[in-house]
Amino acid sequence: MTNLDEMEYNGLLDFEGAELCGDFEERNPPISLPNQSSDGALLAVDIGGTLIKLVYFEGNEEVKSHGRATGGQLRFVKFQTSRLDECLEFIRSKRLLYGRGLDTGSTSMNVKIKATGGGAFKFADVFKEKFGVSLDKLDEMDTVVTGANFLLKKIPNESFTCMHGKRTPVVVNQQNLFPYLLVNIGSGVSMIKVMGNRKFERVTGTHIGGGTMFGLAKLLTGCTRYDDFLKLSQQGDNLVLDLIVKDICGELVCQKQGLSASTLASSFGKVLSSRRKLSDYKAEDLATTLLSAFTYNIAQVSFLVASLLRLKRVYFGGSYIRGHASTMDNISYAIDFWSKGQMHAIFLRHEGFLGALGALLSNLNLKNDDMIFEDSKESEFNNDSSYADDDKLTTELSEDSVFPYLLVNIGSGVSMIEVIGKGKFERIIGTHLGGGTILGLARLLTGCTSYDDFLELSQRGDNLTVDLTVGDIYGEHGYPKIGLPATTTASSFGKVTSNKLSDYRAEDFAAALLNAFTYNIGQISYFVAKLSGLKRIFFRGAYICGHAKTMDKISRALKYWSKGEVQTTFLCHEGFMGTLGAFWSYENMGIHDLAANDFIKEVLLSAPYMIGKAQVSPSMNLNMKNESSLEEEVKRLKHNNAELRAELERLKQENIELKSALSKLQINNKSL
Ligand code: ADP
Repeated sequence: MTNLDEMEYNGLLDFEGAELCGDFEERNPPISLPNQSSDGALLAVDIGGTLIKLVYFEGNEEVKSHGRATGGQLRFVKFQTSRLDECLEFIRSKRLLYGRGLDTGSTSMNVKIKATGGGAFKFADVFKEKFGVSLDKLDEMDTVVTGANFLLKKIPNESFTCMHGKRTPVVVNQQNLFPYLLVNIGSGVSMIKVMGNRKFERVTGTHIGGGTMFGLAKLLTGCTRYDDFLKLSQQGDNLVLDLIVKDICGELVCQKQGLSASTLASSFGKVLSSRRKLSDYKAEDLATTLLSAFTYNIAQVSFLVASLLRLKRVYFGGSYIRGHASTMDNISYAIDFWSKGQMHAIFLRHEGFLGALGALLSNLNLKNDDMIFEDSKESEFNNDSSYADDDKLTTELSEDSVFPYLLVNIGSGVSMIEVIGKGKFERIIGTHLGGGTILGLARLLTGCTSYDDFLELSQRGDNLTVDLTVGDIYGEHGYPKIGLPATTTASSFGKVTSNKLSDYRAEDFAAALLNAFTYNIGQISYFVAKLSGLKRIFFRGAYICGHAKTMDKISRALKYWSKGEVQTTFLCHEGFMGTLGAFWSYENMGIHDLAANDFIKEVLLSAPYMIGKAQVSPSMNLNMKNESSLEEEVKRLKHNNAELRAELERLKQENIELKSALSKLQINNKSL
């Protein structure tokens, strides 16, 4: 059996006439099954790293009174995974384990609950103890794909696009549904190429997901409820913390060069220069910044993966979306912006329940050999700090053989440039999660103000106190089916449950930040290089030069993602090449032209930015400038200038103090 049409009449589930019921603009509307006539217990659970999703069938009232089944509804509920007991109580109170023919009050010993997600493995014993039932454990990717395909094929009005807050239903062309990219945004993110029913490949994923955003949100905003956080994010202004292109080159230059002044250059990039502490920021501004930073990153990685696979339709699932208009708007806008209108972001009304629904559908007795599962085994990033063995490169590179390559400049944001020959280059894309983001967040979470302090702190930290690993979700055996060992990070900051900074150690935050963002830069660089057919990547920028640990992590990320296909080299101003220990001048690399104005342009292609709720395209935005905004700009520049002078003074003073401390140390040393 390979398609849903063949599957649906096996006596357990009958989807004939299935449709959304009630007001389907509501969250997770029930699905009516008018012909359902099963006597079996119809319940499935998806136990994820953060949430438990439960789908169950509730018969119509007359069904209950006559003891015959004549239809009912599929219902959807969620619980926190940390509160499994509430979920168990719900199952008990609703008598969900008793089939309709078994209304005796005692549980049938041969009832098996269809279960998916890592918790199906981890918590199987709890279900056995509490109810005496076993969990029929189903593969997470398989159920997510089955659930998505079912909704898309069988439930009218399930999928929609969302632009400028307006939802437009998508009429799914059944002949033309496949292939598509399914991006499931849960605690972490999985990206799956779906070619048919049970025909799929988990192409990649990212550890920067919903758990990362909400973990950081708890710490920075104090929110403990996701919906409160989303509400807060509606009221804030991200320009208080984010650096946009205008902040780097000024509005006048933007106008002169025809640049988009409002493009996001570096999320949290203003934090370092402002010298404000966490308590000086408004929770709503922090919330808005967090939501846009992580939503754009997920959208960008999705766009790159879809481009690599040449897929035009990207369906988004997972509870991260939560039917939240701004989140969907940001994703749609970003996908549209980067793909120049060629790709479409599509959402599902039951976005968080794909896995649970897929598990329920497994009642349909699908044969396992129908499933094509071609995941490339993902191996763990290990923490051993020896460098990747790219040393060969130093001898292989010559001026002629070096081109073309990808130049990744890690400044406050990250820009990526394809260098074709001497002085010949083309900007490709950038990311707004760069050095400014790492240090900005480090400043807010740990109070440290320099990259050296941050690195020093991170060396002593253990990211596993805040990062959610595959083992935390699946248990000690990890997720062997796709080769993910228990120690792999599934979601950076995904283990953060408390909203008190003092419950964690600053050094652990630093270690987790370094991992999260350097691996992300490595992953995006790899996708961009692959997309452009480039086999060499040169990294440069103040945030990596001379910092062995950062270079090491980027090397590892590249090696991991590219499976050794791409060579990684670091370029540093002082002739220090860290990993390679050799010097390449910019002139030799053909990038000497990349100064001042060109750098400004590089930044352009980082993340798009929407001002408030209204979406303003970069070009529209430029046309809106007037005389008074120019005056304001001059005022702002003057103000910045004064701030920079003060900072310079402070640094000079610090320099004097450090020198005197050093000479004291030297004197002590001598006398010893
Ligand atoms: P998982 O299967 O890993 O638990 P989900 O698809 O359930 O993943 O998504 C979890 C993510 O959804 C969280 O990391 C958070 O970003 C978001 N989320 C939505 N609703 C909630 C909620 N009520 N509590 C916590 N996180 C939520």
